[in-house]
Amino acid sequence: HDFLLQTDATVADLIQSELQRQRQHLELIASENFTSPAVLAAQGSVLTNKYAEGLPGKRYYGGCDFIDAVEQLAIDRVKKLFGAAAANVQPHSGAQANFAVFLALLKPGDKIMGMDLSHGGHLTHGSPANVSGKWFDACHYGVSKETERLDYDTILDLALRERPKLIVCGYSAYPRVIDFEKFRAIADEAGAYLLADIAHIAGLVASGHHPNPIPHCDVVTTTTHKTLRGPRGGLILTRDTDLGKKFNKAVFPGTQGGPLEHAIAGKAVAFGEALEPEFKAYSGQVIANARALAAHLQERGLKLVSDGTDNHLLLIDLRSVGMTGKIADQLVSEINITANKNTVPFDPESPFVTSGLRLGSPALTTRGMGEAEFCEIANIIADCLLDPDSDAVKQDCRQRVAALCDRFPLYPHLDAAVPV
Ligand code: PLP
Repeated sequence: HDFLLQTDATVADLIQSELQRQRQHLELIASENFTSPAVLAAQGSVLTNKYAEGLPGKRYYGGCDFIDAVEQLAIDRVKKLFGAAAANVQPHSGAQANFAVFLALLKPGDKIMGMDLSHGGHLTHGSPANVSGKWFDACHYGVSKETERLDYDTILDLALRERPKLIVCGYSAYPRVIDFEKFRAIADEAGAYLLADIAHIAGLVASGHHPNPIPHCDVVTTTTHKTLRGPRGGLILTRDTDLGKKFNKAVFPGTQGGPLEHAIAGKAVAFGEALEPEFKAYSGQVIANARALAAHLQERGLKLVSDGTDNHLLLIDLRSVGMTGKIADQLVSEINITANKNTVPFDPESPFVTSGLRLGSPALTTRGMGEAEFCEIANIIADCLLDPDSDAVKQDCRQRVAALCDRFPLYPHLDAAVPV
C-alpha cells in the first residue's frame, strides 16, 4: 500500500474507501463474495507482467516456466474439484467463457435455447442486447407460472419444436436445484449440445451441495468469483477431452489474446482452498443461511419467488407489499445493505424498475455470520421495507447493521487496502 500511496495517492485513497465500504455495509448481492487474502496476494503479483499466449508447455513466448507451472496447477486442481476431464482456466470472465463455447460449437445463425433473462437467465444466454442474441437465433424457456420453478415437460416440448443446436441451463436468479439429468434427456431428444453455466452455484457444486453437471453436459462454464470465492474470472470444463481441445482453441486464438496469469494464479489458490474440508463446511453454511433468511422474511409476510430457496440466493416478490425493486433497492441501501433489484418471473415492471429484490448469503457467510445473524438481517430488511417512511426505523436499522459489521470484521489483518 505504501508504494501505491507514494505513487498515486488518489487511487490508493479510493481503494481504501472501497475497503471501508465493504467493511461497513452488509453485502447481500448474490453474485459477490470476499476472496481470501491469499487470492488477493496472488492477483497483485508480478505474474501480471508476463505474456503467455498458448497453453502450458506450448507457448508463443519465452520465459514461461513458472507461468506454466502455475497454470497447470490451476488446471489440475479444478479438474479434481469438479471431476472434469479437461479444463481451460484462461477465460477473463463468465461472459468470455460462454462466448468461447459458442465459437467452438456454433456457426452464426444457429439456434440456441436458454432461460429468458426476465425469469433468471443471463444476458449471454441469447439476450437481444448480447452477441449471443445478435449472432445466434435465440429462443427462450421460462419457469412455470404456478410453481415459479423449471417445468421440464414444457422445456422438452419447446426444444422439440425449436430444435436448437445448443441448450443452456444454469442461471443468475434461480433459487432452486437444477436437474441436469433431465436436461440431458431433453438435449438428447432434441439433438442439441448441452451447456451448463454454473456461474452462480459453482461453489455449491464443488462442495457437493448441488448436483454436478459434468457427467451430464457436453460443457460446463462458470465464473470463479461468486460462490466459488476465487478471483474475478471464468472457466470452461468438460468431460470430453476432444471437445476440450476445441474449447482451448476457441479461447485462444478464438476470442482472447494473452491470458491474465496473475488471475490464473488467484484461481489456482482458490481451487486449492475449495478442495479443503473447510470449504465444504462454508458452502453448507451458505445454504443454511439462505434458508434462515428466507424463512424469517416469510415469517414477516414477505413473499418469495418459488416460495423459498434451495441454494445461496432468494428473490423477494415485492408485489405483495406494493413496492418496486427499484424503491426496495434504494431503501436497503439507505441502511447500508447492498442488494440488487431484479425482475421476478412474469414481471409487469421494466428491467430498470422490476418487482423483485435479489439477496444472497455467500459474502456474509464468508464474514462468519450464521443463521442467528441471518435471522436478524431478515428482520432488519423487513422492518425497513414494511415501514419505508419512518426515519426512526431507518436510524435503528442502520445501528443494527453497524453492530453486525463490527461483530464480524472483514479482512481484520489488513490495515491497508493492498495486501502486499
Ligand atoms: N453466467 C451467469 C449465469 C452469470 O450469472 C454471470 C454473471 O453474473 C455470467 C455468466 C457472467 O459472468 P461475468 O460477469 O464474469 O462475465
